[in-house]
Amino acid sequence: MSPGTGTSCLRLLRAVYDALRAHGEHTYPHECCGVLFGRFIHSDLARNEPAGWTVEAAVPAGNTRTDSAHNRYHIAPAELVKIERQARSQGLDIAGFYHSHPDHPAQWSTTDFQEAHWLGCCYVITAVEQGKATITNSFSLAGLTEEDKRFEQETIQVTDPAPANSAILSNLSARAESA
Ligand SMILES: [Zn+2]
Repeated sequence: MSPGTGTSCLRLLRAVYDALRAHGEHTYPHECCGVLFGRFIHSDLARNEPAGWTVEAAVPAGNTRTDSAHNRYHIAPAELVKIERQARSQGLDIAGFYHSHPDHPAQWSTTDFQEAHWLGCCYVITAVEQGKATITNSFSLAGLTEEDKRFEQETIQVTDPAPANSAILSNLSARAESA
């Protein structure tokens, strides 16, 4: 199964999940952004596990769009090259990117879509309302070319380091709202 076929699942270590949400609270009312490092796991039919990235680290990146940092994010190409090298040195790949939406829903915008070019990678968006992280969603960039790319929402699974203790949060939105 290829990445982003609609049945993918993003697995985030709890520490990574907490860190990327905290980053959005820290930079509020501006957007935060960063890169996710991980490994792609192919679907395991025997264990009924869907394909997807397992993210092991989140690396904060500078927001270079100081002119409109509240609604745009951008990672400078030179910084991205450095970050990619960092991932390789840890034996990991770039699994995707994350950013926050201050006082806006955790849904991708037209700009997010236009600026997404990493097919098969995940784009994680956290809504930060009044300085508090609420909903976190992940969208896998599916498609084989830039022309037929599309975002597909995927399930986020927050896991503790020991796989045996992993907890599936199938309805993160509901949990975030009731928190
Ligand atoms: Zn956005």
